[in-house]
Amino acid sequence: MAEAERLFEKAQEALRSADKTLAESYANDAMNNAHASWTEHEQQMQQQQAQQEAAAEAPKKQPAPAAKGPVKYQCPSCGKIFQVTPPAQRPFDVACPWCRTTVRISR
Ligand SMILES: [Zn+2]
Repeated sequence: MAEAERLFEKAQEALRSADKTLAESYANDAMNNAHASWTEHEQQMQQQQAQQEAAAEAPKKQPAPAAKGPVKYQCPSCGKIFQVTPPAQRPFDVACPWCRTTVRISR
């Protein structure tokens, strides 16, 4: 980009000296140079973006965590319904709040 700026300055200098042909030549050089730099910059940006997207994609591939909030189960011993907020892993044991029977929850 510094090269393009230098060429632009030269173009402006040439303009000030009223050398139109030289000014146009420098201006064209500057434009081409700036464009080349921009294209390179754009490619780098696209690469970075692709890397960021890949990084953002990675966590989504992990299994979704178990739904939070209480789940209703029926006690196999007393037949009453009770609510449990299940932990992440299965199976787990929970005591029925009605009859104190330990219930193994596998789903
Ligand atoms: Zn029970």
